[in-house]
Amino acid sequence: MKELTTDILVLGSGGAGLFAALHAHQTAPELSITVAVKGLLGKCGCTRMVQGGYNAALAPGDSVERHFMDTIEGGKWLPDQELAWKLVTLAVERIHELENELGCFFDRNPDGTIHQKAFAGQSFDRTVHKGDLTGIEIMNRLAEQVWARNIARLEEHRAVELVTTKSGDALAGVLMIDMRTGEYAFVRAKAVLLATGGGPTMYRYHTPSGDKSCDGLGMALRAGLSLRDMEMVQFHPTGLLAGPHTRMTGTVLEEGLRGAGGHLLNGAKDRFMPGYDAKAERATRDVVSRAMFREMRSGRVSPHGGLYISMSHLGPGNVRRQFKGMVERCADCGFDLAGGLVEVVPTAHYMMGGVEFRADCTTDLAGLCVAGEDSGGVHGANRLGGNGVANSTVFGGVAGDAMAAWVKIEGALREPDRAAIDAAVARCERPMRTKTIANASLEPLREKLYETMWENVGIIRSAAGLQAALADLAAIEAELEAHALADRSRAFNLSWHDWMNLKSLVEVSRVIAAAALERRDSRGAHFREEFPDSGPLEQSAYTSARLEGETVAIAMKPVAFTRVRPSETLIRDAT
Ligand SMILES: Cc1cc2nc3c(=O)[nH]c(=O)nc-3n(C[C@H](O)[C@H](O)[C@H](O)COP(=O)(O)OP(=O)(O)OC[C@H]3O[C@@H](n4cnc5c(N)ncnc54)[C@H](O)[C@@H]3O)c2cc1C
Repeated sequence: MKELTTDILVLGSGGAGLFAALHAHQTAPELSITVAVKGLLGKCGCTRMVQGGYNAALAPGDSVERHFMDTIEGGKWLPDQELAWKLVTLAVERIHELENELGCFFDRNPDGTIHQKAFAGQSFDRTVHKGDLTGIEIMNRLAEQVWARNIARLEEHRAVELVTTKSGDALAGVLMIDMRTGEYAFVRAKAVLLATGGGPTMYRYHTPSGDKSCDGLGMALRAGLSLRDMEMVQFHPTGLLAGPHTRMTGTVLEEGLRGAGGHLLNGAKDRFMPGYDAKAERATRDVVSRAMFREMRSGRVSPHGGLYISMSHLGPGNVRRQFKGMVERCADCGFDLAGGLVEVVPTAHYMMGGVEFRADCTTDLAGLCVAGEDSGGVHGANRLGGNGVANSTVFGGVAGDAMAAWVKIEGALREPDRAAIDAAVARCERPMRTKTIANASLEPLREKLYETMWENVGIIRSAAGLQAALADLAAIEAELEAHALADRSRAFNLSWHDWMNLKSLVEVSRVIAAAALERRDSRGAHFREEFPDSGPLEQSAYTSARLEGETVAIAMKPVAFTRVRPSETLIRDAT
């Protein structure tokens, strides 16, 4: 097995990973830094897909206190308040850094100030953007800066296991597969950042890029770390529904359509949202997604089993002008957004849950930091639109600084537990070694996973459904373990990687289902039919999951209200 050595290893090249690499390099240019990524640097992950924008309290009249309160109230009092405070305060610094040091151009007002648009759940228009392609601007500039520095790259390298020392007291390195050759590589590092971006791609309809399969969360669990808030999976109401055999299905039709006055219709072409909420289509994502799911369950569905969005009453010309990109996207799939109806379905968008971490991005495993969508606790029960990319860039930078400082003071290359490396290789090799060719295609297993998660661990949950899902997931896991690959070549064997993707997704799906079963209330993205109320906010508790042997153990831990208590506010002029 190839063995490589680096001072700092960054897993993932989204906003979190690239910011970490740049900050680590700035803090300690003498250290060797390596970015290892499943895809191509700058071209994969979800930061590139960011459309809407980035929240930062920049404008006069806005304040970090306002942004903080929006984040805490939006998160239904479950966020870790120190993490949320760090997010809102450093987001301001990060936007200036993106513009002035990294070269991003954001849209501006006629007076030269940065233009900020309205996003749901915010008391002030604070979303910085570059048209509706904000992520491409951020990622292109970040990637250019990384390429220009002495930062090593391991592209198309998949991390498969965090390997500790024999005593388990610290991280020694990461086992990887070079996807181009199929060979294993062990990368020894003094500090590692987990920034593989979570990604709820275990649901039938989902928005994130296909390279995201919760690998990082699975690795963290197996390394003994706790994951918090895992039941909190955000669904975006308007995913495009273009039939089963196109990846366009599940992609987002932006929130602005509902904001501008778009109507949601059921299969009978009746508008239903006013019957569910006074704000109708302009209610928050969780409320609209739940109403849509109920309509769909009642059988009032479109030809592909979803619902419709209708914009034509706003004037087809207006819609074409205002939503050019969305009109074109729909036309590509045979729909006329401006003048007709477009089939839509709620789509899994974001995981609020992730690895428990401290505000300096360190975790309970010495040498391991976490940032971005792999981390948990910043958003609580709901993420505000615009707080996702802020989260990954803010904490990516923090992690880079922290890792560089730590490596300089106490970083050391540690001897890995060789038996753990062998065990991880054996785990990956399983479908290559299994003798009986049980089932050549993974498609039926993926379909089962999609079905189980969508029906029973999705938008509306119940104890019976969640228990059924846990049983289904155990059965899928057993079938995966028995699965034998027909193609045993190694170079770019995508079936093999698909098998590993499914393994990670099933592992993390079990945690989502177990946490959802344990939470006996309804908050934000999590809704239990038997417990429709939020419960007393003063007694807010978050779920903390860890592996005990093969079992997922969930503890409920009280939220520490370190800055503000329910019914209080930090906003001075909140009269
Ligand atoms: C369609 C869409 C639109 C969005 N719009 C917005 C928006 O307007 N505003 C907002 O705030 N948020 C938005 N988000 C959310 C936002 O994109 C994410 O929260 C954020 O970008 C995550 O950053 P990250 O660095 O954690 O992960 P990502 O940017 O997703 O990067 C993860 C990286 O990890 C790599 N990786 C995965 N597994 C492995 C592995 N095993 N080994 C090595 N590398 C691995 C991936 O290839 C990728 O490079 C949107 C998300 C989507 C899907």
